[in-house]
Amino acid sequence: MQNTAEMIFTGDELLRGDIVNTNQSYLGEKLLDLGIFATHALCVADDRAAITKAIGDSLGRQPAVLILSGGLGPTEDDLTREATADAFGLGLVDHPELLEAIRTLFKDRGFVWSENNRKQATLPDGAIAIPMRGTAPGFYLEAGGTLVVALPGVPRELKEMWTGDVEPLLRERRLGTEGFAVRRVRTFGLGESRAADMLSGLEWRGAGMDIGTRASKDGLTIILRAVATPQGVLLLEQTEARIREILGGRVYGVDDDDLAAATGKLLRRAGLTVSSGESCTGGLVAKRFTDAPGSSDYFLGGVVTYSNGAKSKLLGVDEALLAAKGAVSSEVAAAMAEGARSLFGTGCAVSTTGVAGPGGGSAQKPVGLVFIGSVVAGVTVVEELHLPGTREEIRYRSAQAAIDLLRRRLLRPSQNPAARLPLSA
Ligand code: ATP
Ligand code: MG
Repeated sequence: MQNTAEMIFTGDELLRGDIVNTNQSYLGEKLLDLGIFATHALCVADDRAAITKAIGDSLGRQPAVLILSGGLGPTEDDLTREATADAFGLGLVDHPELLEAIRTLFKDRGFVWSENNRKQATLPDGAIAIPMRGTAPGFYLEAGGTLVVALPGVPRELKEMWTGDVEPLLRERRLGTEGFAVRRVRTFGLGESRAADMLSGLEWRGAGMDIGTRASKDGLTIILRAVATPQGVLLLEQTEARIREILGGRVYGVDDDDLAAATGKLLRRAGLTVSSGESCTGGLVAKRFTDAPGSSDYFLGGVVTYSNGAKSKLLGVDEALLAAKGAVSSEVAAAMAEGARSLFGTGCAVSTTGVAGPGGGSAQKPVGLVFIGSVVAGVTVVEELHLPGTREEIRYRSAQAAIDLLRRRLLRPSQNPAARLPLSA
């Protein structure tokens, strides 16, 4: 039987949509890393009775862990301490050592002390404090087989408490099975259904192996999870190897690997340099490359040529070509990449030109039509994309796709049968 977790997020601003519940995605992922499966997540208004009821309902289902997020501050709408005490039928107890810590913090930072802050030095009777990472201590307590953990809503504080205190606590109590090995296989250019089709022959289920997929702007991640027995780890490794065989060059890395950094590694290994000539991505390709420390080894520079004039002046794109084919065309993408290559004197180059929207589309050139270009070893290759989404999404994915085109071309196709598969939007 695997341990389960539930999460309760408090805050009117979450329900109103003023803020996105990033704590949930963070905690969900972190719990999974420990092999704990979240079964419920609930957002509740800043209402004492409602939070109390939500906690009580959750305890009734007897999860191994219940995480509470938010409502630990000093203001009237911060009610997690009170609601937790109510749910367990406990009182709130003063903790002089917490009061002291909060007072010291206020003095050190020159904050004005308010008596409201006293409230943060109280905890449900029997709860153990988790040291502050901001101005609100967290706490945990155990009852009826459930470990209840209350964390501040501020994402940075929540994360610091999670890694610093909660994760070790879960491991110590063997709630987070140390017994799970997780591997995230990162791919780009594959839709979820396409990946499922390609991987349908894999027999991964059973035998302590579990697989899931997650699509994000960085591509599709295949998440493998196995019991950390020697057989489980072997199965995980074999499955990863099998996935790499099937998806070939679509796989750009594992775990926290980044596509631009992975491409940089290939450039460095080959002793090659790259430059960019960008239009619709407005410099994002250059940003993505230079996000990687040490990228000056291979990324020499980039230009943003937004107007036709800039394209011809800086990248030498033929004015007649621009007039005949339009800036958003396969031919101009090719000329931009070649222009960047010669401007910077690099071995490789990438380019982007497209309609990022929301306006500016036409029947022939709709929003989301993007051409990405690449030069490798003197050969220019352009791909045409039809991307869905908002302006921001289209721009991000265009940059990602342009870098990925270069990456796939740097791989040896013989070793990566799928490296040359056409990109699916
Ligand atoms: P504080 O001491 O700052 O009041 P708190 O524990 O009381 O901390 P909240 O008041 O619930 O936390 O939230 C503080 C801020 O943290 C919110 O205004 C919001 O910006 C952010 N926040 C809260 N919950 C979440 C969440 N689930 N996901 C992302 N951000 C959140
Ligand atoms: Mg608050």
